Amino acid sequence: MKLWGDVLGMTNVRRRPWLAAAGAVALSVALPVRAQAPLPVVTSFSILADLVRQVGGERVQVRALVGPQADAHAYHPTPADVRAVSAARLLVANGLGFEGWLERLMRSAGYRGELLRVTDGLTPLPAAGAGKRDAVHAHGHDHDDGEHDPHAWQDVRNVLHYVQRIEQALCRLDAGGCAGYRQRAADYRARLQALDDEIRAAWQAIPAAQRKVVTSHDAFRYYAQAYGVTFLPAQGVSTASEPSAAAVARLIRHIKAEGVRAVFVERLSDPRLVERIAREAGVRPSRQPLYSDALSTPEGPAPDYIALMRHNTRVLTEAIRGAGG
Ligand SMILES: [Zn+2]
Repeated sequence: MKLWGDVLGMTNVRRRPWLAAAGAVALSVALPVRAQAPLPVVTSFSILADLVRQVGGERVQVRALVGPQADAHAYHPTPADVRAVSAARLLVANGLGFEGWLERLMRSAGYRGELLRVTDGLTPLPAAGAGKRDAVHAHGHDHDDGEHDPHAWQDVRNVLHYVQRIEQALCRLDAGGCAGYRQRAADYRARLQALDDEIRAAWQAIPAAQRKVVTSHDAFRYYAQAYGVTFLPAQGVSTASEPSAAAVARLIRHIKAEGVRAVFVERLSDPRLVERIAREAGVRPSRQPLYSDALSTPEGPAPDYIALMRHNTRVLTEAIRGAGG
């Protein structure tokens, strides 16, 4: 609940003027370009909001429904969200079942604008397997469509596609800004390409057999496939705040047997337990969180998508390099 306070404070209040944006856009033909109201865009979650800002610049006004540091699995639309969607000209979603709540929200809001699903046209990975999924995701209603894994943004090459889709949608809705959108998208894609190269280089510096990580959040399958890393689930201890002694012992055996060198179980509430798992399994615990489904706050280590991918890569590779050695 505390998170929602932050999110609402950051997004709704400040952007209230855009509730009237539909009217403003209608007037804009008669006004000089400088006075044109930015295009009101709503995205389902914070990572997409960053991508839309990168492409749209000052010609768009973006609001994320699920804000930084907030949990897309536990999202419930507020009345302010409904009003923001009503006033939006473009709604940007991930697709692949990530936003199971979106259609109902669009109906409540009477939304008649365009819905852009940025994963359309990509080849998705299959879902992590019913019943075997991490409880973090299993308890989140409608977080995937049961068939596909929605976390496609964890592979930078997929985000090149996201950015292209966003560029095309903005050009359709705001032809006057299209040249600018194309330029900004091209510049940003060049930065993404460099990011992809950088992540590859970071992993290539680590022997393939050592690229094994235990995580408590089953959201890194695209990353795993793209960059040659194996993520193993922290079975039995991923979401339980007080896992059983047997579950902890099983996890320790699993880490040893697999030769895992880095363990990320930041969701465990008891830091002494994390220490114990790491000590007995002979790995170094990492207390730095990995960011999967949301950006951090602006002061945090993952305030935008590129920073998020860099942060995860640095934290993962440092944990592996610091282990055993
Ligand atoms: Zn997720």
